[in-house]
Amino acid sequence: MKYKTRTKPTPRSKNYFDDKGCVCNSCNTYKEYQFIIKEPRYPNGYGRRCKECHNELNRQSYLKRQGKTKVYMLPNEDNYVGITQSMLDRARRGRRQGMDYSDYRILMECDTRKDAEELEALLHDMGYPGKYGYKKNPIQ
Ligand SMILES: [Zn+2]
Repeated sequence: MKYKTRTKPTPRSKNYFDDKGCVCNSCNTYKEYQFIIKEPRYPNGYGRRCKECHNELNRQSYLKRQGKTKVYMLPNEDNYVGITQSMLDRARRGRRQGMDYSDYRILMECDTRKDAEELEALLHDMGYPGKYGYKKNPIQ
């Protein structure tokens, strides 16, 4: 195996950085620091990723988190069982509806909404209250 002689890094090589900017680890493009995310733990205060890539990665991980449908239970609401894509949003809405979401438990994270609905239906059949099954306070 032949080793290349070490050359001065160029703005096209990974981990390259200089006074004005650095190469983004994601898109391998040299960008000025104003386009690079700030990262206090790095010596010069900037991370190794451009804002564009950073936002894109955040968006993807957000979508990934949203993608799973969660089956949850509310111990403080008579073990009410429901499903949601976003527990945070659901809890916010639930509180407006006067329900106690302070102690929710995620029973299962399902890849598809159908899986979650089936589990929810099963739990309602078993007697857990919820929107689609047995009602705690049926309207007379
Ligand atoms: Zn980038």
